[in-house]
Amino acid sequence: MSRNGVTNTQTAPATQGQPVPVMTIPPVIHQVTMRVYDADGWDEFYTIKATTVNELAHNVATFKTWLKEKGYSPAPAPQRSANAGGQPAPTPAGVPTCPDGHGAMKASTKKPGEYFCPAVVGNHPQTGKKLYCTHKFPA
Ligand SMILES: [Zn+2]
Repeated sequence: MSRNGVTNTQTAPATQGQPVPVMTIPPVIHQVTMRVYDADGWDEFYTIKATTVNELAHNVATFKTWLKEKGYSPAPAPQRSANAGGQPAPTPAGVPTCPDGHGAMKASTKKPGEYFCPAVVGNHPQTGKKLYCTHKFPA
């Protein structure tokens, strides 16, 4: 038995969009992870969860009060480097870094504009003199 001739949903106009399925939606869990240090200096993580943002804010406030009573202190804020890119090892602008992971190269005093890696990688087997990383910039 068809209703008003609509027998095939595939021919329904696309502008009507997808029918909204009736289903039970599980409650959305809002959560906040807090990093704190306890009175003895232990680094601890806590996750506060709630089903509404208001409840979450309330729970966080309550938890903060509890933390203060117990002598907890907040973890230090992550260091933000001046450049928003968040370079892992901030180096002065334009200073190349060693491809072997020795960090920032040093500017050559003899050849302006050139850099060398100052890292010591070992000792010469005969002379015992320090052997330096050979990476230079420009290579
Ligand atoms: Zn190097």
